[in-house]
Amino acid sequence: MNEYTNSLDFACRLDNADELHHFRGRFHFPCFQDNTIFYFCGNSLGLMPKTVQYALLHELEDWHKYGVEGHFMARNPWFSYHTLLREPLAMLTGGLPSEVVCMNTLTVNLHLMMVSFYRPTQERFKIIIEAGAFPSDYYTVETQIAFHGYNPETALIEIAPREGETTLRTEDIVRTIEEHGSSVALVLFSGVQYQTGQRFDMKAITEAAHSIGAKAGFDLAHAIGNVELALHDWDVDFAAWCSYKYLNSGPGGIGGVFVHERHGSSPDVPRFGGWWGYEESTRFQMKKGFKPSQGANGWQLSNAQVFQMAALKASLDIFQEAGFDTLCAKRDQLTAFLEFHINDMLDNNPAIPLTVLTPKEKEQRGAQLSLAFSERGKELHKKLTDIGIIGDWREPNIIRIAPAPLYNSFTDIYHFRTALETLCAEMWPH
Ligand SMILES: *Cc1c(COP(=O)(O)O)cnc(C)c1O
Repeated sequence: MNEYTNSLDFACRLDNADELHHFRGRFHFPCFQDNTIFYFCGNSLGLMPKTVQYALLHELEDWHKYGVEGHFMARNPWFSYHTLLREPLAMLTGGLPSEVVCMNTLTVNLHLMMVSFYRPTQERFKIIIEAGAFPSDYYTVETQIAFHGYNPETALIEIAPREGETTLRTEDIVRTIEEHGSSVALVLFSGVQYQTGQRFDMKAITEAAHSIGAKAGFDLAHAIGNVELALHDWDVDFAAWCSYKYLNSGPGGIGGVFVHERHGSSPDVPRFGGWWGYEESTRFQMKKGFKPSQGANGWQLSNAQVFQMAALKASLDIFQEAGFDTLCAKRDQLTAFLEFHINDMLDNNPAIPLTVLTPKEKEQRGAQLSLAFSERGKELHKKLTDIGIIGDWREPNIIRIAPAPLYNSFTDIYHFRTALETLCAEMWPH
């Protein structure tokens, strides 16, 4: 901790030493107030890469120029547009290129994955999730359970932190999975918890699920583009994600899935079919009888959303250029710097009713720190927003701050701390 100091000069020196600092210039920062905006909401909606508008224009021009022939004549032919995203998504997820595909949106994809990988029987019907999972994930599992004729009251098992703790221990997750044993059909966890910012041990969770004969799936909404993933090597069965958070694809951006090759190579895995998942070489013979493509491609339904993919591609090009390892190293530094400032501020003013929910170990978190206020948190959040500091508020008492390594700087964090400390001194004088 002592390696850091609280001064603008020190933060500037860290920025000067940061080889990724210039990537900030590739993004549009919001300007809806008279204030300079400090943006810490990349975990909710990533900023817009400046290249996105050209990427979209490019496709509009090709549509203008070629009409339907754009499927094959466009500069990036629409027919196979999804293949342009395969390598970068494989890199970010640690999947094989054939194990990933972008399609639809996250909640839709979770349902599609559960159609294939949640196949309850009288003996094996439970789903284990983390307590406090994202609402859409709850609704997905509840309605899937009910759809199959089971009762969410008995079939949905939630793992909560121990009394007095705010995050989960891996040993407790593993023990719960083992306790429920052969009654469990699926363990569905988030990769990074949206509320607390805790990064789960996905490898250990997958191993525990497999040891009792259950499937392991992950919701990577807060993990993709944020933390290192090795889905193939961890032997994860499936995963789904959205791309508008750390991947900056814009509102409603296209989601994606990972399906492990041992499932993807088997045409017998049950699924909901559509023509875009049909085996490619004979798709346009338009015959009856669904024959899936190999790999994750075989879960596609509709012809692909080219504008959405073009926006995502523009952003993934920046990730490729920056290098994900370098980004992860900067992520750890930025988060540690933010943590230093919070702790230093609390040392100066112990009257501030703030605790950090996110784990201290860097292996157990990503770019986000969740700040819990035992009182007046919402009021403070509003004051921060009013002066142009954009974090986000989560009921009942959390302000989430996510410095994204592609476009946030060490001086952003210094300015955040200064503003926060001033507001807190007014609210909780010491
Ligand atoms: C953001 C998020 C979602 C959102 O789902 P959409 O279908 O993209 O609207 C779902 N689950 C989790 C865990 C999330 O963080």
